[in-house]
This record gives sequence, structure tokens and C-alpha cells, in this order.
Amino acid sequence: MKVYNTLSGKKEEFLPQGDEVKMYVCGVTPYDDAHIGHAMSYVIFDVIRRYLRFRDYKVKYVQNVTDIDDKIIDRANQRDIPPAELAKKYADSYFEDMDALNIERADVYPKATEEIPKIIEVIQGLIDQGFAYPAGGSVYFRVRKDPDYGKLSHRSLDAMMSGECAVGGEEKEDPIDFALWKASKPDEPYWESPWGQGRPGWHIECSAMSLKYLGETLDIHGGGQDLIFPHHENEIAQSESFTGKKPFVKYWLHNGLVQLGEDKMSKSLGNLVTIKEALVKYGADAIRLFILNSHYRSPLTYSEEGLEAAEKGVERLLRAVSRDDPGGGEAFDAESYRKQFVEAMDDDFNTAKALGSLFELANAINQAGDAGVSIGKAQGTLTSLAREVLGLKLPRTFNVEVSDGILLRAISEIEIEVDIKKTIEISAAEAKSWQFDTRKPTIGDLIELRQQFRKDKKWSLADEIRLSLDKKGIILEDTPKGTVCKRKR
Ligand SMILES: [Zn+2]
Repeated sequence: MKVYNTLSGKKEEFLPQGDEVKMYVCGVTPYDDAHIGHAMSYVIFDVIRRYLRFRDYKVKYVQNVTDIDDKIIDRANQRDIPPAELAKKYADSYFEDMDALNIERADVYPKATEEIPKIIEVIQGLIDQGFAYPAGGSVYFRVRKDPDYGKLSHRSLDAMMSGECAVGGEEKEDPIDFALWKASKPDEPYWESPWGQGRPGWHIECSAMSLKYLGETLDIHGGGQDLIFPHHENEIAQSESFTGKKPFVKYWLHNGLVQLGEDKMSKSLGNLVTIKEALVKYGADAIRLFILNSHYRSPLTYSEEGLEAAEKGVERLLRAVSRDDPGGGEAFDAESYRKQFVEAMDDDFNTAKALGSLFELANAINQAGDAGVSIGKAQGTLTSLAREVLGLKLPRTFNVEVSDGILLRAISEIEIEVDIKKTIEISAAEAKSWQFDTRKPTIGDLIELRQQFRKDKKWSLADEIRLSLDKKGIILEDTPKGTVCKRKR
């Protein structure tokens, strides 16, 4: 398996330190709703993690939450609410979006505000070793003390001096130095420290948290290309200076950024599309497929046409996995498609190529099915690759008849919200109090769930699902062939 490492600028053989891959991805600063740029980054690292697991690695995945920051404080002041309240609101909103996009939760989400002791410990260690110095209640990192500073972004100190990081600060020894700890201004949240009341800088959080939860050396550190400099460069400087061990990270993986037309999608340009806005128009599977249809290191141009095409792509996959298996006789062998898929993913997670082989497999399944060849096993291969690796939710294959593509459209248009995993085990009494506002299973999921209830003779629960669908304009009819789904006209 090969991965492109930003540090070396080359594709390298992937050799983690041990059986468990230690993976860290920079998380959000929750001061607003997450946008498509976040969706791109977190979908990609979700797929990378799923693929590693598919290749039999164990993965420990840590993602921080920067729940204290200038942006949070400014926004909270504008709204006249405490910064912690604002951060909580948007962190909740972020998790809602991640769940809706079927992005698996990280193993740990350390929050900056809950990790202050570890952060102080690392800063103190850097001071003790001469890599950092307190000044005016803040603490700064002595960039020129680190001989290979700039190795990730491939920039020289001179180039940086003219760049964005060399902002003044009278108390700094050198304008290129950056803050590890910031003295708090009046009316700002603060924590006590050996240097006075203040709060951590953004870069040191990631060094402290990755050290605490994953140890001194990470296998994979991910993030968007916009984080390479100065954020990741600073993380390397801090971590390697603190531990004395190199490398801090074996493989640096960076995703391309989302563009809208020619422009980068960004807050400052005011052209952001939030995940919630996109989910109103498109299904989660379509958004994932749209993202995975180009290479993760390339820029992704957001477009309605691209998303509509992705929606059709999802339908094509769905059709292939949910069509009836003629059964018996000769069986269609999907192994060569599976191999192509794995080869593509092994080559620096080429999801676009991997998806290509899934679409070829879908076509082949349709042809084989038309020719009366048994396709059940091939459908299983297609479903498992799409689900386990690419994280698409494609509803399971069961006897649902598609009339005029109505069900397929319905799946992407209407989402009924209920926590599927919980519902399978809940009692009838609990079912009565279903909250239709947490998760978003598809209609296919609900039909399957209803069949499960009927099998278990839980008639009232089964009926409840039928009635809820009925309220959304979807009629279920049980026929000898299976459940038929129709839309009310
Ligand atoms: Zn970070």
C-alpha cells in the first residue's frame, strides 16, 4: 500500500509502527455551521480509516475540538452569550452533520478546554529545554532554535518572514516566533498557568493532545492543505522539540480544498455552502460519492451538476444491489472487480478509480442478471465495498419493488429520522416515544426494520413504521413477492 507523504513529497510504502495505526486529524473550531470543505476533509479521512480497517489494521483515530479560540470569543461577544455556550452549540451541530454524512465518530475527541494541564506540561517542557520563553504573560516558541523548521511546507525562514506568520508582537524576541500560550485580555475566558491567566494557542493543542492520546509518534496525521503552514509546521516544531524524537509523524496526508467556480470556498469570500444546506438538496450518499469521485489531493469544485450526477450514480449502484437474483446455475464472479478496487485504494487511496470499478461491477451485475446468471454473491461484494470502505449507506438488498424509480428518488428526497440501531432492540413502549429528529435512516432502512419486526411478530411496531411512512406520503403494500413501495399521488 502506498501513500503520498507531504513531508517527502513522494508516494511511500505504508509501514505503520505497529498493528494499531495511530491516526490524528485536526478537528473543528466550532463557531459556525460546518461547510462542504469540512465534509470533504472528514469524509476522506473517514474513508482512509475504513480502508485501513478493511486491510486488517486496527486504527486509533483522534480528532481534537478547538473549543476556545479568538473566533469563538468574537462570535460569542457579538451574540452576547458565553463562549462555552457558542462552542457547545456548534460542536453539537458538527456532530449532527458528521452523523448525517455517515462519518464514523473518532475514538477520542479531546477538547482544548479540558486538556489544559497537558498543554501546560508540554509548554513548560519546551521552556525548560530552551525552545520557548515567557514574555508579558504569554509564551512563545523560539522558531530559530529548531534547525529543520520549514521541512513540511518546504519554505525557508526568509520566505516566512515576509509571510503571514511574521506578525509583530512587541514582546517577542523574534517576529517569526509564535504563541504557545496567550495572556488573556480583560473579559476573556482564562485558565491559571505558571505564566499568569491565559489560554492555549491553537498549534500547541494538537501537539499536546496527540501526545497524550497517541504517544510520541503518529502514523498518520491528516488535515486540509491549508493547514500545512503554519499549523502543521508548528506542530512538528513543538512535538519534535519536546520529545526529542523524530519523526513526530510518519505520514502527513493533506486533502485538497473545495472551490466554488474559480474561488476557494471560504468564510472570507462569503461563498460557503454548509453541510446542512447541501443535505436539504442531496442525499448523504450522493455527497460522499461526489467527494470521492475525485482524488483527495486535488481541489474539488462544488457544483449542482456534479452533485446531481452523484445522485444518479448512487441510484445506479442501488439498482444493481437491489435487483432480484435469478439464482441457481452459473454464478457471476466479482473477484476481478474487487481486485481492481483494492489496487486503486492501495495506490494512495485513489477513490475515483475505485469507484470506477464499482460502477463497472454494477453494470456487469445488471448484464449478468439480465442473462439469468446468479448475481447474489457479486451483489454482496458490491454492497460490502461500497458500505464498509466508502461508507455509503446503500440500503440492504431485500424485496422492494421499484416502480418508475420512485423508491430510489424517495430515498434521497425524504429522510425519516429515527435511530435504527436503537430501534431494533427497543420495546413497544419506547417506540411510542420515538424522537423523529436525531438520525436519518433511509426509507429502505425503515422497510427492512419493519420486516424484522414482522418476523419477530412485533406487529404494532411494524405497523407504526407503516403509519409513519404513510404520513410522509409513502405507501407500503405487502405482496407475495415482497414489500412494494409506492408514493402517494
Ligand atoms: Zn491541528
